[in-house]
Amino acid sequence: MKNFSSKIIGITGGKGGTGKTTVATALAYELAKKHRVLLVDADVDCPNDHLLLDIKQKFYKKVEQRIPVWDFEKCIKCGLCGIVCKTNAIVAIKDKDPIFVPAQCNGCGACVLKCSEKAIGWSKKEIGKIYTGLNHNINLLTGELKINEPISEFIVNSLNKIIKKKKNDYDYTIIDTAAGTHCPVIAALEICDTVFAVTEPTPLGGHDLELILQLLIKMQIKIDIILNRSDIGDKKIIKILAKKYQTKIIAEIPYSKNIILKCAKGKPVEDENINEIINRINHS
Ligand code: SF4
Ligand code: SF4
Repeated sequence: MKNFSSKIIGITGGKGGTGKTTVATALAYELAKKHRVLLVDADVDCPNDHLLLDIKQKFYKKVEQRIPVWDFEKCIKCGLCGIVCKTNAIVAIKDKDPIFVPAQCNGCGACVLKCSEKAIGWSKKEIGKIYTGLNHNINLLTGELKINEPISEFIVNSLNKIIKKKKNDYDYTIIDTAAGTHCPVIAALEICDTVFAVTEPTPLGGHDLELILQLLIKMQIKIDIILNRSDIGDKKIIKILAKKYQTKIIAEIPYSKNIILKCAKGKPVEDENINEIINRINHS
């Protein structure tokens, strides 16, 4: 069998609830019957691929973010750090010690750079964890953002570093992204060779698909469409978008009670239409 080594495939979708995780896990399950597969759950606010594949996760590493720390002996209480912080993480009133709100900090470093007294140094805070797991011959890598931490792309960036290091250990790396077109989705997609957008034939599905198509065109990444629950609405909505953005619907997965039941039981989905996605991957 030809070895299509080191292909990184993104499974995304502008809209949540279209079946992105179902498709990503089903694709990983099918490919892992004959290939070395790494599945990456990059939906770090709410990762759940391990549930569908019945994978017991093991702690792999902490993800940390740098945060500033103050030396109040050196601080002359000028208030400048509060002015330069664009995320309102510092409340600094002239002649008072600055107050730091770690949850608001993105580690940009502006306060450290601007303090003339060198009263601000660096420390770290944990913002999330990465887990690994194995079942059905699928190696899983999961990123999980800590509750109340706002910057999920830091976790995705950490996943990307691991993917780049390990990618040659696998024939296929499948990245299951979050829904939407925000920073953690962009971070997950930027290392993909090819991307599939999972959508459904509804006005909402069409609206959100158009956003992700526009994003991927800007990113110059090849994208095809997977139409899930293809028989529940009006396919014309998606066909018009495919034509407008010069892409293709490469697989249609009809609504299936069997798929719903498998998901409800936390079992991997097997569906003949997944093979059409594999054909497309292997010929792209
Ligand atoms: S900029 Fe430096 S000296 Fe001024 S308030 Fe902030 S920490 Fe203190
Ligand atoms: S590192 Fe940036 S975001 Fe954090 S407190 Fe300093 S200026 Fe604000």
